[in-house]
Amino acid sequence: MKRIGHWIDGAEVAGTSNRHGPVYDPADGRVQAQVDFASVSEVDEVVASAVAAQKSWGQSSLSRRAEILFRFRELLDGRKAELARILTSEHGKVFSDAMGEISRGLENVEFACGVPHLLKGEHSEQAANGVDVYSLRQPLGVVAAITPFNFPAMVPIWMLANAIACGNACVLKPSEKDPSASLFLANLLKEAGLPDGVLNVINGDKTVVDRLIEHPAVAALSFVGSTPIAKYIYENGTRHGKRVQALGGAKNHMVVLPDADVEMAADAAVSAAYGSAGERCMAVALVVAVGAVADPLVAAIASRLGRIKVGPGTDPANEMGPLITREHRDRVASYLDIAVNEGATVVRDGRQDKFENDGFFLGLSLVDHVKPGTRVYKDEIFGPVLSVVRVDTYEEALNLVNTHEYGNGTAIFTRDGGAARRFQREVDVGMVGINVPVPVPVSYYSFGGWRSSLFGDHHMYGPEGIRFFTRTKVVTSRWPDPSTSVIDLGFPRNR
Ligand code: NAD
Repeated sequence: MKRIGHWIDGAEVAGTSNRHGPVYDPADGRVQAQVDFASVSEVDEVVASAVAAQKSWGQSSLSRRAEILFRFRELLDGRKAELARILTSEHGKVFSDAMGEISRGLENVEFACGVPHLLKGEHSEQAANGVDVYSLRQPLGVVAAITPFNFPAMVPIWMLANAIACGNACVLKPSEKDPSASLFLANLLKEAGLPDGVLNVINGDKTVVDRLIEHPAVAALSFVGSTPIAKYIYENGTRHGKRVQALGGAKNHMVVLPDADVEMAADAAVSAAYGSAGERCMAVALVVAVGAVADPLVAAIASRLGRIKVGPGTDPANEMGPLITREHRDRVASYLDIAVNEGATVVRDGRQDKFENDGFFLGLSLVDHVKPGTRVYKDEIFGPVLSVVRVDTYEEALNLVNTHEYGNGTAIFTRDGGAARRFQREVDVGMVGINVPVPVPVSYYSFGGWRSSLFGDHHMYGPEGIRFFTRTKVVTSRWPDPSTSVIDLGFPRNR
């Protein structure tokens, strides 16, 4: 059985704790590898290596850091098909989707290549006579990155590109369900010239995360995952005096107004709800159909679902792959029974679809007449189940979005510019799409939700990522006028 170890000081090393977990191929249901779970003492070794590496990395010139990041960008771009195959193999997403994930990650590396510009401080000359005031942005030291299973390449890149660019050493703890992408990235960064120890990858579970939370040499925790764990990381990390950004779960509404282009809205809902088998924090989970658009919209969505090919992500004909584990697939499927019990209508039941092997597949499912307050409405299902809620007015739709526990992303579909503009102003959600179903910000903005979708003050990547991974220092300096200097600089002296 293949073993997956850790990446410490520039090399892959086997774990020593005798604890490990299974890594499946979700397309056939078989265990393809065992990933080592680190012990507390292994975490301590990794942090010690990061502390040592950061001392000189934090002093490295901005041009050297940019040069390494540029090389990393070129290597990643050149080998993205190889990385995409790793994503498909361990996560299950189809190859084209995996390539898309890497492209979004590449954007974040490109942003970080601009580090000489991004770390510029401010300068006020002559704040008082002979006094200048200026600010510096300096690294935090060692930072930890803890990532979820659903974007095994992109989310680690969201964190590590900016963390490293800012002069920190980064200890990455990827999801134990699909850890190989992180090791691949660490390998490429070494090839790009990153000094050993500046990025370490430590695999494992709660034991590793808890030690990172407590470790006195870890200055900050950057986390993406489910809301209960995000809250846990935020509360415990801050209690240990750390800077924390913790992004949580989501349940995103797509509001469709009566004037929307129904065909365009149906295409958008289908790609945003079922892409990556619905395992995206920016997936559309709820369509809110306003007024008379509901019947034609549900019909248009339903008519598309039978045509979408579901199967192993390695087959280019397939458009949707399996879910991450058997337990997760069964949990997602259970919501179809819950929906019926709660009085909703199952328009398409993906459990009826037959698959050739024992992979963790579930067919595309659509539920109509979902009522606010029910579990199907409230819970993050995180699978290929799209729910439709019918309301009469824009105000009702807005109220639904604004009172949901999660406030990660939302979208409105309309041909009315005034309505769209009003929505962008009135909606209480971190990322808003106007006729764009998955409004993930480009890398030079930052990514983050509101309410239970984010704990902390900083959004992820982009300018807020740079602020998260640096601390500012303000210098107030006084230099007397050279004409009063004791050294003769050739200026006429005041007598
Ligand atoms: P998860 O919360 O189960 O795991 C995330 C990380 O936390 C993993 O590295 C895991 O090992 C660790 N972890 C799990 N349980 C822990 C515990 N009890 N104590 C300490 N650490 C623990 O999330 P997941 O299932 O891997 O990912 C899916 C979730 O992530 C969904 O809720 C999704 O919405 C969310 N997500 C959010 C965003 C966002 O940007 N807001 C992006 C991607 C995913």
